[in-house]
Amino acid sequence: MRRESHVPRGGPDGGDGGRGGSVYVSVDTGQTTLRDFEQKRFLTAGDGGNGGNKQSHGKAGRELEIGVPPGTAIFDAVSGDLIADIVSREQRVMIVKGGRGGLGNAHFVTSTHQAPRHAQKGEPGEVRAVRFELRLIADVGLVGLPNAGKSTTLAALTAAQPKIGDYPFTTLEPNLGVLELGLEDGRRPTIADLPGLIEGASMGAGLGFAFLRHASRTRILVHVVDASAADPLRDAGIIRDELSAHNPALLEKTTLIVLNKIDRPGVHERLVELQEGFAKLGLNSVACSALGGTLGEGVGALRKELARLLPDAETLSLPTEPAGVVVHRIDPIAISGFEVSREGVAFRVRGKAIERLVHQTDFARDESAERFHHELKRQGIEEALRKAGCRAGDSVLIGDLALEWDDPDDSGLLNAADAADVADLELEEIGETLEEAATGSSEGSQ
Ligand code: GDP
Ligand code: MG
Repeated sequence: MRRESHVPRGGPDGGDGGRGGSVYVSVDTGQTTLRDFEQKRFLTAGDGGNGGNKQSHGKAGRELEIGVPPGTAIFDAVSGDLIADIVSREQRVMIVKGGRGGLGNAHFVTSTHQAPRHAQKGEPGEVRAVRFELRLIADVGLVGLPNAGKSTTLAALTAAQPKIGDYPFTTLEPNLGVLELGLEDGRRPTIADLPGLIEGASMGAGLGFAFLRHASRTRILVHVVDASAADPLRDAGIIRDELSAHNPALLEKTTLIVLNKIDRPGVHERLVELQEGFAKLGLNSVACSALGGTLGEGVGALRKELARLLPDAETLSLPTEPAGVVVHRIDPIAISGFEVSREGVAFRVRGKAIERLVHQTDFARDESAERFHHELKRQGIEEALRKAGCRAGDSVLIGDLALEWDDPDDSGLLNAADAADVADLELEEIGETLEEAATGSSEGSQ
């Protein structure tokens, strides 16, 4: 209430609270790993400022921008749902919405109620656990059994210098290089070494999965086989099974078999037979000696074959998967507004708008509590509770609020407030929230 010596009976002048900051995720092309998040596990946007006297409104909370490398998929940690797949620079996704600021008492003046004590509390900030998963976007992925020569092949085709005969398993990022396709070729495709499950398992549980998930983002798989091994076809089968177990779609990807280590004794003699064996499986193959580096036997032919299989420069500049997949789940509660269910001996009311209102209501103020009760009636929650079998003395749970059903004359749950006292603003706000939530669905009432 306004308090000034020359204004003896000043009206309500409480300003609104500021909106809390939201949390956004977008691409930061300078980032290539998610390592930053190993330390920073809790990220918080700013609080909205408090409203003050003289109708002064609180400041909006600082928004939080989280920059991630392109190729980061964001999952809801609880439901496991994909929230967004951040692959291109234009994408910016809100993952947590800042709470609305509470409305000051100045909002609740009506013709019949000039000095409302009611003020709305701010919505609590949303807390969400999310999982970031980086899927490398490489044009070519190298797969194969340990020691087949993947790292050696990567080194022969690019300027990258991966550790041969070893994998630096302190990091989860595969080795990545830029393919040198030839002087007159303007394309700059990337190629990554993707250790598989078997290799990953030897480094630590789950690491193989971490590498394999990158495979789905590639355009072409290059499957390196040690052609000097006892049974190269069987070896290749192990990897094909591993890929298929991880994601059956991987077997449909364009795959080139590299018959490596042809410098080893006896390999040349069996090459034709091996190539025919792979051809029977529908797989093209190229023979080479990656150990010879850029000039190794067959390395030039491998490079040419890759140049032939890869798309043109324009296509290469586009993400390997359709960009910007954002999955919105249709929530039945969002459509009907609320849901009533049994919870032990009590009744539970679930609904975004009504739970929000619980947080926004200061039950210590009679006037605020009455508005809340009126809202239960208006939204049809009271009626739904009665239908669900709720009787006098039963407990009703909404959010973290517990109410007692008080139905002496069977006329209603709680004493509804005088309708004239209810400010339109609050009602509109709730109506709008429900509309927002139900957008995109034609199914209306519950
Ligand atoms: P990865 O585990 O598939 O990455 O295999 P590496 O590239 O680390 O190679 C495993 C071993 O095979 C290393 O000792 C390499 O030197 C060797 N190697 C790789 N390519 C060839 C090749 O073309 N010829 C021969 N003789 N050895 C090779
Ligand atoms: Mg290796």
